[in-house]
Amino acid sequence: MIEKPIRRIVIVGGGTAGWMTAAPLAQRLARRPTAPCEVILVESPEIGTIGVGEATLPTIRYYNAALGIDADDFVRHTRASYKLGIEFKDWGQVGNRFFHGFGDFGPSLGDYPAHMFWLRMAAEFNNMPALESWSVSSMMARQNKFVPPNERAPTATDTYSYGYHFDAGLYASYLRDYALARGAQRIEGMVVDVERHPESGFITAIKLRDGRRVEGDLFVDCSGFRGLLIEGALEAGYEDWSEQLPCNSALAVPCASAAVLTPYTRSSAKEAGWTWRIPLQHRTGNGHVYSNAFTSDERARAVLLDSLDGAALDEPRQLRFVTGRRKRSWVKNCVAVGLAAGFVEPLESTSIHLIETAVGKLLELFPDRDCAPALAAEFNRFVGARYESVRDFIVLHYKLTRRDDSEFWRYCAAMPIPDSLRHQIELFRETGRVAILDRHGFAEPSFVAMLMGLGMVPKRYDPFVDALDIRQVHGHFAGVRDMIAQAVARMPEHGAYIAAQVERAA
Ligand code: FAD
Repeated sequence: MIEKPIRRIVIVGGGTAGWMTAAPLAQRLARRPTAPCEVILVESPEIGTIGVGEATLPTIRYYNAALGIDADDFVRHTRASYKLGIEFKDWGQVGNRFFHGFGDFGPSLGDYPAHMFWLRMAAEFNNMPALESWSVSSMMARQNKFVPPNERAPTATDTYSYGYHFDAGLYASYLRDYALARGAQRIEGMVVDVERHPESGFITAIKLRDGRRVEGDLFVDCSGFRGLLIEGALEAGYEDWSEQLPCNSALAVPCASAAVLTPYTRSSAKEAGWTWRIPLQHRTGNGHVYSNAFTSDERARAVLLDSLDGAALDEPRQLRFVTGRRKRSWVKNCVAVGLAAGFVEPLESTSIHLIETAVGKLLELFPDRDCAPALAAEFNRFVGARYESVRDFIVLHYKLTRRDDSEFWRYCAAMPIPDSLRHQIELFRETGRVAILDRHGFAEPSFVAMLMGLGMVPKRYDPFVDALDIRQVHGHFAGVRDMIAQAVARMPEHGAYIAAQVERAA
């Protein structure tokens, strides 16, 4: 028996991070027959949530599945649409358009990745179709098709994956209902003070404005950018990455839905940043991420409004942020999750994924009341490395630009980058190989899609692919391309697939 089990967890903040933390904790702990543990979430409607964060990575499906959430019910309640990847427009250079699809290219031949054969064929044949013709998700996205891959008995064309776009507010309430139904408790109130043990420095209670005290053994700081506990009380420190990711502002606005519900996020590079377009069932989410050192808020607002494909449904909302991460996101008996732990701009929709990562790791390393420093050290090592690999992947999008049409892009082309990313870029440029520095992060096909999409053509390919007869290689890939085209042609249209699903769940 554990001598000092955690008896009460206090989560501060009821945004996406707060409820994504509360749901699995309540599922596992709140009504445990032995050593039950209270899960209490404190939130202040007066402060509110950030209200953005609507595109995800495929891993969100595993998070939902672990909670036993039914996919039809989830899609219906969160007004979700499917995300097969991201269409990049004007990244690399103006006029450039490519797709970062979820899943693999191929099927390939032998153990060699498809792009190695593509490089060989491109050296041999003129007018090779783009590599993305061998990405099932990209081809589906181009034709607005969607059906989930058959994951139980996959065929050669079930090599794609998908995430969701959803309404952030609806997702948080969906998880709130889930957590409350499983024994979590919710307190409305404004946290104004934090009490700490005079010797250990552990947090013992939070104080609310109306005088209430909420005691706990473990505190999860989901208070957003302010990091009320982790920084306000425990002074964990913040590592600022603005030099490599200069965007520090965003404007967000919903607009009326377009006629066609597209199964992908669109990211369009602009003169001092980029705009996003996230289609949901009932509206389209839009935003402009930019650096206010290179443009004005007024100009950014005009750029955003000009990019909408329907009438704006609200006034654009202004947000500011400092890109980076908390130096330690677990300190003593406090763990920061979500924006309280750090933020990298939403270019690849990684924030919710990092929430999943932190919550998963907290469950894996769940402490007793002593909160052994070794657990915190391991959490900080793992989560810190995950943030850094996300940072590298995002910096790559900017660094490889050939745009020189604005001061912003000239800065990005010249800015210093982390050594880990420099190694990645040089390895690919010279050899076509991808260094997997974080096996929990973006996989090889994602790096290939971005590096080649941004215009990098490696000087060499894997010498082993020369061993195969080029006509055989060409025949194989032509056959695969036909097979993908036929499979996609048979798939339902994305909007129709969702309509059927929503009806099923009603
Ligand atoms: P918040 O939503 O800010 O919630 C903070 C909570 O703390 C609130 O409930 C608030 O009431 C509470 N609180 C704060 N202070 C107190 C107090 N004193 N007392 C009581 N309660 C308090 N992520 C993605 O994965 N995909 C995206 O597409 C994406 N797009 C984004 C676009 C932009 C412009 C930005 C800035 C972020 C985006 N993100 C995205 C990130 C995503 O929005 C966040 O990771 C996610 O919403 C989690 O936020 P949070 O819960 O940590 O913080």
